[in-house]
Amino acid sequence: MTISRLGVHTSVEELFPPAVLRDALTDAGPTVRIVETDDELAACDALVTFDYEESFLQADLAWIHSILAGVDHFPFDALAEQGTLLTNSAGIHGDSVGETVAGYMLMFARGLHTQRTNQLHQEWAYPPWDAAFTLDGESLCVIGLGTLGRAIAMRADALGMDVTGIKRTPMPIDHVETVYPPDDLHEAVAEARFVALAVPLTDRTTGLIGESELRMLRDDAYLINVARGGVIEQSALVDALESASLAGAALDVFETEPLPDESPLWGMDNVIVTSHAAAANREYYRRVAVLVRENLRRLDANESLTNQVV
Ligand code: NAD
Repeated sequence: MTISRLGVHTSVEELFPPAVLRDALTDAGPTVRIVETDDELAACDALVTFDYEESFLQADLAWIHSILAGVDHFPFDALAEQGTLLTNSAGIHGDSVGETVAGYMLMFARGLHTQRTNQLHQEWAYPPWDAAFTLDGESLCVIGLGTLGRAIAMRADALGMDVTGIKRTPMPIDHVETVYPPDDLHEAVAEARFVALAVPLTDRTTGLIGESELRMLRDDAYLINVARGGVIEQSALVDALESASLAGAALDVFETEPLPDESPLWGMDNVIVTSHAAAANREYYRRVAVLVRENLRRLDANESLTNQVV
């Protein structure tokens, strides 16, 4: 199958200007145009996009590429029925998200989030004598050991942390001392000072961390979510934070995004809120372009696609 008309949907501007991706693909084979209207969409065989819109189904596209790794907002069954291929961008966020998670852990351990808040109030304050600690020798459990999980584990290991993890099919993974199966979730998280979520949002991972899992965590544990908001029962997390049965949380993703103004999470001293920005990177569009080029080549050669979801 040869794609001759490729669209770059304007929704990619959530992450980078559509024109930079269009320009990075101009010599990739097909005619590449930025798509905003249904008429422009109708003139495409394939589309690179951030959002999913119902009009994509009516356009009868041969292929949709999501610039995100998580494609839980796409209707897999309807796309399959229509014969539209769907690919994602898993594999390109390891370094950016890995560094963000290392940053969250360092902020909590070194109290940098508190120092920054103090600065905004021109407040000179040494931390309470027993608040600061170092990551060296602390434990981290990474739930989901794909691109993100392995990149987080590697950085945590380099910081001297003891890393464990959960994988659907347990096998030895570099930088991870013990790999548990999903059924051992409670045991795996119970000992950890930090727990980082790096799984896709699926039927099995929706609400994976609820009241009973939060109860298993240590009182001095920090929960980190760079996966999807739905992986945690957010109201149970708010309860746990308010009752201090958890030391804190770093959250990049939420049940509702943007995080609503009235969410108590905004105002909590022990919560770091970032705006689904853990993977932000000026090189993002180039990495998407590499994936798109490779799949254009594979489609042309009738080979199976990389990162195919549907
Ligand atoms: P990936 O496909 O490389 O890895 C996902 C891993 O999770 C796989 O190894 C898979 O086997 C594992 N997994 C699935 N279900 C599991 C379960 N029930 N228990 C344990 N492991 C399970 O994807 P990735 O690039 O690592 O991204 C993971 C998810 O993180 C994405 O689906 C996306 O939702 C999210 N994400 C968020 C950001 C961000 O900006 N915050 C960026 C990239 C990805």
